[in-house]
Amino acid sequence: MAFERDGETVTVQAGHALQDFVSHAIDSGLAGVETLIGIPGTVGATPVQNVGAYGQEVADTLVRVTAWDWVAGSEVTLSAADCQLGHRTSIFKHSTRWTLLAVTFRLRSSKLSSPIAYGVVAKALDVPKGTCVPLAEVASAVLAVRRGKGMVLDPSDIDNRNVGSVFLSPVVDDTQAARLRAEQAPVNDFTDGSTRVSASWLIGAAGFTLGQPIVPGIRMSTKHFTLVADGHATAAAFVEATRIIADTVRQTTGVQLTPEPDLFGDEADLTSRLRQHSPA
Ligand SMILES: Cc1cc2nc3c(=O)[nH]c(=O)nc-3n(C[C@H](O)[C@H](O)[C@H](O)COP(=O)(O)OP(=O)(O)OC[C@H]3O[C@@H](n4cnc5c(N)ncnc54)[C@H](O)[C@@H]3O)c2cc1C
Repeated sequence: MAFERDGETVTVQAGHALQDFVSHAIDSGLAGVETLIGIPGTVGATPVQNVGAYGQEVADTLVRVTAWDWVAGSEVTLSAADCQLGHRTSIFKHSTRWTLLAVTFRLRSSKLSSPIAYGVVAKALDVPKGTCVPLAEVASAVLAVRRGKGMVLDPSDIDNRNVGSVFLSPVVDDTQAARLRAEQAPVNDFTDGSTRVSASWLIGAAGFTLGQPIVPGIRMSTKHFTLVADGHATAAAFVEATRIIADTVRQTTGVQLTPEPDLFGDEADLTSRLRQHSPA
C-alpha cells in the first residue's frame, strides 16, 4: 500500500510522487505538508535535501526513514535526528551509502493550516500573515504563487527549463537581517535557528532584470529571478551564469550566494572554475 496511516503518522513508499502524498494528506485532513504542493519528485528524495517551501520543510514532520544500507548490507531504520537534516541538506546528500525505501511523517489532524509564514502566500490568500486557513486553500495559493514564478513543471511554459532554486537562501546575521527587512526583503526564520533571505530577492536587488540573457544559452526567467536554459545551454555555461550572479550580488548587497544544484560529470573541473571566481 502506498500510504500506511496510524493516527497522525503516515508512512509512504519512497518511489511515490510527492504530489500524491501532499494531496492525500490534504484530502485526509492532515496538516504539515500542504505548502510542499507543486514540488516535483518522489517522497524518497525529500529527506535527501530536506525539501521545503513556503514555511514547511521535511524536517518539521519527519519521524524516521527505512533504508537499504549498502555498507551494512541490511535494511536499517534511521530516526529524524540520525538523518541530520539542515537547510537543503542531510546525511544522505553527498552519500551513496543508503537507498531510502520508505519515509514516515507525523502530521497534525486539522482542516486548517499552520499560521501562514510567507507574505506572498498570505497576499495570494488575501489574509494577514499568521492566519490559519483551510488546507486546500493554502495549497491552491501556493500553487498559484509557484505558477507565477514558473516553478511548476509545465512543458508549455517558456520558463519551464529550470532546476528550481539555483541558489540556497543565504544565512544573514542580525545586522544584515535588520537592514534587509528595512528594504522589504523577505527574511525568514527557519526551524534550525537560522535566519535566511530570499536569494531571488537579492538577485533582483542586484540589478538583474527578468528575461535578461546572462551567458549564451542561459537567461533569467521572465517570471522570477532564477535561471532557465534556452536552446543550447551547457553545464559550463550554467556554472558561468551562477558565478556572474553570485559575484554581482556580493558586490551590490554584501551577501554571498551558494549554488544549490549538485554538479555531475566534469564536476571537479566545473567546481574549480566556480571557486576560482569566488572569494576564499
Ligand atoms: C521546477 C522545480 C521546482 C522545485 N522546487 C523546489 C522547492 O520548492 N523546494 C525544494 O526543496 N526543492 C525543489 N526542487 C528540487 C526537487 O524537486 C527536489 O530536489 C526533489 O526532491 C527531487 O526529487 P526527485 O525524485 O526528482 O529526485 P532526484 O532529482 O532524482 O534526486 C535528488 C537526489 O536525491 C537522491 N535520491 C532520490 N531518491 C532517493 C532514494 N530513494 N534514496 C536515496 N537517495 C535518493 C538522488 O540520488 C539525488 O542525489 C524543484 C525542482 C524543480 C525542477
